[in-house]
Amino acid sequence: MHIRDIFKRQRTTFSFEFFPPKGPEAADSLFETIADLERLRPTFVSVTYGAGGSTRDLTNDLVVRLQDQTNLNPMPHLTCLGHSEAQVHAILERYARHSISNILALRGDPPANQRDYDRSADSFKRAVELVGLLRRFNDSGGHPDRNGFGVGIAGFPEGHPETPNRLLELDHLKAKVDAGADFIITQMFFDNRDFYDFRDRCRLAGIDIPILAGIMPITSLPGMRKMAELALGSRFPASLIRAINRTGGDPDAVRRVGAHWATEQCRDLLDHDVAGIHFYTLNRSKATQDIYATLGVRDSTGLQ
Ligand code: FAD
Repeated sequence: MHIRDIFKRQRTTFSFEFFPPKGPEAADSLFETIADLERLRPTFVSVTYGAGGSTRDLTNDLVVRLQDQTNLNPMPHLTCLGHSEAQVHAILERYARHSISNILALRGDPPANQRDYDRSADSFKRAVELVGLLRRFNDSGGHPDRNGFGVGIAGFPEGHPETPNRLLELDHLKAKVDAGADFIITQMFFDNRDFYDFRDRCRLAGIDIPILAGIMPITSLPGMRKMAELALGSRFPASLIRAINRTGGDPDAVRRVGAHWATEQCRDLLDHDVAGIHFYTLNRSKATQDIYATLGVRDSTGLQ
């Protein structure tokens, strides 16, 4: 379902993010997770695109499989990195044939170990150009739905590291909205004040599309370290670090503290009229299920 229609029906969305599995075993385990999470009736699920476009076929295949074989509403991530315009077109045509309704348009990042990654062959340098292409694709009637693809973009409550000037950064975000984006999904954050301030700054900049909050429960200490690296420096509040330290590193206790923290974030976000919550599931179901249970939410339709 197109995101515009979703927001007409539902005040708050609950969505889940997966990454494409690398082998048959990982695929089996992901489909177990998906079966568990399908019961929570997410508004939509998204599938990431590997750094540097490295999971192009895996992402495309998983999205099509989810669309054809489950009741889920899958949204692929699509990045500028590693693609010519013709390649992007071919991907969009396949998604349109399978009636995929929404796409998250991103610039993408090069693989972590390739700092001198060559982008000279990429047709699109920034996400705003991909949003523009999606709009042209929609306008040309390339999608069977007359609304075309709904277009999501990324937002960064704590700022994107390449643009330290936060006023300029919002101008860049506004340019993506003006190019035709329908909604924003944020990078994960652990202090809701960062999200509320970002949301206020967006409104002041004239950005009035729905902003979905990215939530990732901490499930282990190594996971937390990796998160800090991948999320380009998410800030862990002192109170959260203290709570994690009190566990003495006990893995079960870390998991409980992480789930409790994320649940409290969600409760507070719901109290503050968040447009949607996007869970970074890391292809596991337990933490998300626990959060729903503690929130007292049977499934995502309970949030209408
Ligand atoms: P852009 O909007 O292009 O911005 C990139 C940088 O360029 C920003 O600093 C921006 O301020 C700056 N900029 C924009 N316009 C201009 C301009 N005109 N002049 C100068 N500077 C400008 N990455 C993946 O590889 N695969 C994924 O699946 C993926 N999923 C993600 C999902 C979410 C919800 C989020 C938040 C991020 C995701 N990322 C993913 C990471 C994302 O691709 C990176 O963070 C990337 O560095 C920025 O992407 P963007 O789409 O915001 O880029």
